[in-house]
Amino acid sequence: MFAFDNSYARLPGRFYTKMAPTAVSTPGWIALNEGLARDLGLDPDLLHDQLDVFAGNALPDGADPLAQLYAGHQFGGWSPQLGDGRAILLGEHMDGNRRVDVQLKGSGPTPYSRMGDGRAALGPVIREYILSEAMHALGVPTTRALAAVTTGETVLRQEGPLPGGVLTRVAASHIRVGTFQVFAARDDVDGLQALLDYTLARHAPDAKGPMGLLRHVMGVQAKLIAQWMGLGFVHGVMNTDNMTISGETIDYGPCAFMESYHPDTVFSSIDQFGRYAWKNQPDIALWNLAQLATALLPLMGEREAAVAEATGALDGFRDLYAAEWTAVMNAKIGVDDMSLAMELLDIMSEGQGDFTNVFRALTTAPGRARDEVLTRDRFDDWQARWLARNPDTAAMGRANPAIIPRNHRVEEAIAAAYTGDFAPFHALNAVLTDPWQETEANAPYRIPAAAHERVTQTFC
Ligand code: AMP
Ligand code: MG
Ligand code: MG
Repeated sequence: MFAFDNSYARLPGRFYTKMAPTAVSTPGWIALNEGLARDLGLDPDLLHDQLDVFAGNALPDGADPLAQLYAGHQFGGWSPQLGDGRAILLGEHMDGNRRVDVQLKGSGPTPYSRMGDGRAALGPVIREYILSEAMHALGVPTTRALAAVTTGETVLRQEGPLPGGVLTRVAASHIRVGTFQVFAARDDVDGLQALLDYTLARHAPDAKGPMGLLRHVMGVQAKLIAQWMGLGFVHGVMNTDNMTISGETIDYGPCAFMESYHPDTVFSSIDQFGRYAWKNQPDIALWNLAQLATALLPLMGEREAAVAEATGALDGFRDLYAAEWTAVMNAKIGVDDMSLAMELLDIMSEGQGDFTNVFRALTTAPGRARDEVLTRDRFDDWQARWLARNPDTAAMGRANPAIIPRNHRVEEAIAAAYTGDFAPFHALNAVLTDPWQETEANAPYRIPAAAHERVTQTFC
């Protein structure tokens, strides 16, 4: 079924713990992502017969399962050892020359579980499936969801006992900023060098050395974060262990898309001080990149010169990001004028405009856009000046989706799943595969949450 070639398993043994997933009692299907399966050169019918593989009860041929070691800064505080506490990398599937990790998440305890049970409740599995597939459809680099299953077992969470699930995640790799940090923190320069060589070969074959990797990651992250920002996405846990080297979005925990625009928006129940608020994401990305640079220093020769070189590169991030953000916002208003775009955001924050619907209305029905904000005089004045600039509505149509996974819809799918009803989950996934046009099917999903439906906090 999979065509495995397990290169990470050939790295030194201290990079991981080889182990199989822990079996569950009575697995059941929630979803198999047939489109993704075909994209990966896999036969969906064959995968359908392998429920036991997606539950962790059987190993597919060629698997060399392992839990990866990493560390990370969580909310700015250093955690010297994290690692896959509830995930197992089954192996790397090859589709021609394309290599992807196939990982089970929620697959039982590992030596890196710390206090955790190694499991995932159904809700987070459902959320990650919906959000990661929606992000892909929106054109954002992201890990993917290949399958979701129930375990027949119960996990204990703050909310009480909940049914468990396992997600099969596909990623360009699971190498994180925190993967470099763990070897640096242990003064394991050989490990660091082996990881650098491996990562360059896998993700940036044209880049050279530690500075080449740093510049590469700065580039892909600047692009990624600008895309998040342009869709109103708030990741929620931008810890260094949740930032990939590949530039894919990873770890959909307490994340959410903004409805009413406000730059301070935070959803995560565990983000008390708003460290990972929407507006802070570019600065946090830079902070994380500085941690990557710090981890790479031991490979960069004489320390003082290395620090100067890394600092010089990092100083360029704000401009790099600004260029990406400018491109995103100019496409969203169809006019190359950043001050005009920023003025609109300001009007939206004052007038409580729905981030998705204001931009979409400007794209398809400018006459209706004013209805989306409360401060109509200011909006009308802005719109007159904007229209005079002849906005490129074709570019806008590609930058402004009709639908995003609205939080109350995600929560609705999760609540139904907990009662054994996966119909809302499937219905939501189905409309999110085509977010770029208004259809009859997606009309209900375009409506912002009513006051009583509003979700202000998300949990992981
Ligand atoms: P996250 O914030 O979800 O990225 O997770 C941070 C760390 O906690 C990672 O090392 C996870 O593997 C670990 N972790 C999260 N949830 C669990 C769990 N239920 N059991 C064991 N480890 C967990
Ligand atoms: Mg080992
Ligand atoms: Mg994580």
